[in-house]
Amino acid sequence: MPKFIRYRYQGKEAYGLLETEDRIRRISGDPFSDYQPAGGSLALAEIKILPPCRPSKIVALGLNYRDHAREFNLEVPAEPLIFMKPPSAVIAADEKIIVPAMSRRVDYEAELAVIIGRTCRNVPREAAFSTILGYTCLNDVTARDLQTKDGQWTRAKGFDTFCPIGPGLVTDIDPGDLAVQSYLNGELRQSSRTNQLIFSVPELVEFISRVMTLYPGDIISTGTPSGVGPMKSGDTVEVVVEQVGRLINTVAAEGAPTNQ
Ligand code: MG
Repeated sequence: MPKFIRYRYQGKEAYGLLETEDRIRRISGDPFSDYQPAGGSLALAEIKILPPCRPSKIVALGLNYRDHAREFNLEVPAEPLIFMKPPSAVIAADEKIIVPAMSRRVDYEAELAVIIGRTCRNVPREAAFSTILGYTCLNDVTARDLQTKDGQWTRAKGFDTFCPIGPGLVTDIDPGDLAVQSYLNGELRQSSRTNQLIFSVPELVEFISRVMTLYPGDIISTGTPSGVGPMKSGDTVEVVVEQVGRLINTVAAEGAPTNQ
């Protein structure tokens, strides 16, 4: 399961392949088209990790975990409930989630995210894996109070920094039964498995691609399990997906100094 890291080094953006825990092998090209070893390696400490892809859109799922539905006594939906997060919300691993002054409650949501590899429309579920390049971790950060207040979710889900993704893009894994967890300040808060998904990854690709054309780098986020909760300035939040990676971000209040 190759793990690609998109990064900036000496002012240039490129992809590399994770070689050990703290080094990447340099490549030319990118995982969406074609790539070759470019010779040499870099320490993660020398590079700035970027989001693993540049989505034109992020399509996310409302309720999609059986254990989550059970916890809140919610009816299992008959078809996927989708919404979008804007690409302007995307940040990389280690960047700061900014709690906006407009909201009094901002939650983490640990999710497995699918990265689309090629332009596609009307994909039958049997062909879904041929359109998927790989997977990453996603934190579907949500202003819970505004989600309730607005009815529409654009504001609650769409603030800048509300879509941390990464750190890498992992290919050639089976997404059918992976552990999905979140930790807040080192404490386990969410823990489930993707075998609890109400709509599986291939079913989601089929459903969403019947609605809209998907482009390389677009993201489908598969929904979050039970245990969501609030974050505040100073917290550290981690989304951990088995075989995919560990996405770590810190939280700051709007107006506070940031490292971006
Ligand atoms: Mg979510």
